[in-house]
Amino acid sequence: MIYPKCKNIVPGYPGNAMSIRASGHVVPCCFFGGEEQWNELKKLLGDDYKNLHISTGKTLDEFNKSKEFQQIEKTWHDPFQQILGACVGACSTKEHLHNEDKTSTGSDKKAKKL
Ligand code: SF4
Repeated sequence: MIYPKCKNIVPGYPGNAMSIRASGHVVPCCFFGGEEQWNELKKLLGDDYKNLHISTGKTLDEFNKSKEFQQIEKTWHDPFQQILGACVGACSTKEHLHNEDKTSTGSDKKAKKL
């Protein structure tokens, strides 16, 4: 089961923001910043990963509703598809959702003393 933090729009609770990789590709969250995770996503999307580039001129809302993002979301529910490793690693437990003491990655929210 996936509890997608990228779709967490509950006011007052942490969710994941969309990200832009250094290459200029828009991804649903920072968990696709790593090369392994990015390569797995490119494998899922095939050549369509190019549609995620910022140079396409799409708005963030259009990226969010794109067929590429929908393809990612489909892996969460389709029993015939492998869920991406990033989603399994970051969003397969729900205990830190809606918890004000946790960040969106599940770590403790503690202010660093400087
Ligand atoms: S890892 Fe997957 S489910 Fe979690 S926030 Fe990112 S795209 Fe959404």
